[in-house]
Amino acid sequence: MRVNGRRTEVQGVVYRVACQNRGCGHQFELQITPQNARLLSETMACPRCGRRGGFLKPDGRIGDKLFAARLFFKLANTSYSGAGSAEEADSVAEVY
Ligand SMILES: [Zn+2]
Repeated sequence: MRVNGRRTEVQGVVYRVACQNRGCGHQFELQITPQNARLLSETMACPRCGRRGGFLKPDGRIGDKLFAARLFFKLANTSYSGAGSAEEADSVAEVY
């Protein structure tokens, strides 16, 4: 990686994410760069409990380029079946 002129610039921000899955509560850090910023509008799985379909909800700033976020999951009480991850992504987009 070349640095042209400027000091090395950390790309993106870090989200300290807390899984909201009941019984998990795992915290992990997720680096968000322009390359993977779409994670913020898509669903993802918790790296610990592996529950899929979680979406990130920013929960305030902690420090410089460090933000808190929660990994929320929809209640699994809807009647539709199937993966439907694309539909979930759509509804997540509405949050913003
Ligand atoms: Zn979890």
